[in-house]
Amino acid sequence: MAKKVLIIGTGMGGLATALRLATQGYQVEMVEKHHQAGGRLNQIKDQGFTFDVGPSFFSMSYEFEELFKSCGVANPLQFNKLDPLYAVWFAHRDKPYKVYTDLDKLAGEFADIEPDFRRKVRGYLDQAKLLFHDTEYRIVKRNYSGLLDYGMALSRVPLRHAPLLLRSMWKELGRHFNSQDVKVIFSLVAFFLGATPFDTPAVYSLLNYTELEHDGYWNVQGGMYRIVEEMVRLLEAKGVQIRYNTEIVGMRATGDNIEGFVDKQGNIYRADVYVCNGDAASFRGQMLHRKKFTEEKLDAMDWTLAPFTLYLGVRGKIEGLHHHSYFLGSNFNEYASNIFKTSVAPEQPYYYVNVSSKSNPGSAPEGCENLFVLCPVPDLRYKADWSDSQALADRIIADLSSRCGYDIKANLITQTILNPVDWAKMFNLYKGSGLGLAHGLNQVGGLRPANQDELFANLFYVGASTVPGTGLPITVISSKLATDKIAHAYPAA
Ligand SMILES: Cc1cc2nc3c(=O)[nH]c(=O)nc-3n(C[C@H](O)[C@H](O)[C@H](O)COP(=O)(O)OP(=O)(O)OC[C@H]3O[C@@H](n4cnc5c(N)ncnc54)[C@H](O)[C@@H]3O)c2cc1C
Repeated sequence: MAKKVLIIGTGMGGLATALRLATQGYQVEMVEKHHQAGGRLNQIKDQGFTFDVGPSFFSMSYEFEELFKSCGVANPLQFNKLDPLYAVWFAHRDKPYKVYTDLDKLAGEFADIEPDFRRKVRGYLDQAKLLFHDTEYRIVKRNYSGLLDYGMALSRVPLRHAPLLLRSMWKELGRHFNSQDVKVIFSLVAFFLGATPFDTPAVYSLLNYTELEHDGYWNVQGGMYRIVEEMVRLLEAKGVQIRYNTEIVGMRATGDNIEGFVDKQGNIYRADVYVCNGDAASFRGQMLHRKKFTEEKLDAMDWTLAPFTLYLGVRGKIEGLHHHSYFLGSNFNEYASNIFKTSVAPEQPYYYVNVSSKSNPGSAPEGCENLFVLCPVPDLRYKADWSDSQALADRIIADLSSRCGYDIKANLITQTILNPVDWAKMFNLYKGSGLGLAHGLNQVGGLRPANQDELFANLFYVGASTVPGTGLPITVISSKLATDKIAHAYPAA
């Protein structure tokens, strides 16, 4: 008889693992605490507006192609390449820089501020490219059997990259570029990893290579949630059952074997193999009561920033707004250094705006725009009280209105605010951290919570806080790594 797998959580990692396992002949069941699938990749509908809740674009589109291909189905989604990738507004400049993957066009954007940019960026990206390809299979896309194995893998990375481990990303950018604006723009990727460019190792300059040269950024025709809709459709066709509004709160185990997980209502779900798509670090602490993951120890770990998000349905077309834009002040170094640990909401917030109605007209009523605003803020360890959410939302809306020259407040049809408390509750995100565990060198590879449990042989993990890390394509890789481990230890039949 086919082995039965229970997957806790229907985030990107959980859905992709379910599809791979069901294709390989496992009998798969999923439980999800939210009322619909997708985890952070979710959707809100309100008065004719449709909003993607979290991710608005992704890199490494070929990981999705690999997923569908390896499951014997054609990619049902239409991916659209972003060009330009995004626009960056600074407070000291009244028009944005547009970040193009065409390096000649990009050089044109920076012509006044970074002489000889074209030559400089080539040198910077060549180095990042080498590092990307030297680590892709040696470090990122592989499983580890333990620390020794990880050490061996690291020793196979060419030594020429060692200086990038010792330098910060900011310092590395300073070796190639003089302009503060150029350095700030290239260092934005550091925040995806959970740190400032001042304390992110320069190895992560490889993310500039992924965005600018390797595969760029993509979104999905019809909205990002189409990914989830299609995944659920494929899973249902393969007989996978998904139970929503079902939160796992306890477990039964004998020796080194999980016997079942228990939901809030006391129902027990039994299987041969279990996969946790909830946070791989806090699940070990809160569900399995592991000493290495007590609240004190979890709090001492490094976490990515928490999201403060707005979903605004706006009457009228906002011509001055590009579909992906960052709005920054003029005090980047000070702002970036303080934002992780401050206990107050920022007075002059830095934020990101996506207007998907620019490319997906069906996501807003005719003549309207749907704005998604993401303002990264300190997590609940540093700021636990978000009763001031409306005030921060008002500051963002006022700032955005003045910078794009459109009175958003006067034209607001609908507004939803999700603060870090909401995010934490909705998807069990530890202290509201948006992207999960950070990616400092002490929390990656063999040092990140592993994708097979230390004690229970039949418990595996997939998603942002296990290997390799966060972001949609990376959780797709995570699903492949977890599936390989399961197939090796517990063959389907
Ligand atoms: C605001 C925001 C913007 C982002 N933007 C981007 C972007 O543009 N591009 C990009 O690539 N990435 C982006 N990310 C990151 C990306 O969303 C995540 O890395 C990815 O979606 C994580 O997937 P996951 O597999 O870890 O699952 P998750 O999304 O964490 O889903 C896990 C699921 O498990 C469920 N669950 C947890 N515990 C239990 C339990 N005990 N019982 C039952 N169910 C449970 C949760 O409800 C959830 O549905 C963004 C994240 C956020 C928050």
